Amino acid sequence: MALIQCPSCSKRVSDKATNCPHCDFKLTGLTPEERDREWHRVMMAKREKVIGQSMLALLIAIAAFTYYFIQQPLPGSWQANSAYGLMIVGVVWFIVNRVRLVLIKRKPR
Ligand SMILES: [Zn+2]
Repeated sequence: MALIQCPSCSKRVSDKATNCPHCDFKLTGLTPEERDREWHRVMMAKREKVIGQSMLALLIAIAAFTYYFIQQPLPGSWQANSAYGLMIVGVVWFIVNRVRLVLIKRKPR
């Protein structure tokens, strides 16, 4: 049994495997053209997932900010602290997802 590199996620996979166990990339019975298309399909699915998550993160940050702006909870109250917490989580999560998106784009073939 030999190990090959998955063209999609670059992890080591058995050459006997029909699909990559890490990213579900189809490995066998593909012409180079089909393999290229398959790679593209997996990449697009990954990108869509990350974009969806970054939108959700942005939504959380905006919702928390809007709540804070409209309700104006007392500083130090649990409402204010949760709003702050959600804003930070939303912004950090958003940035993490943007970085992931750049990394996906830059991944070599
Ligand atoms: Zn893979």
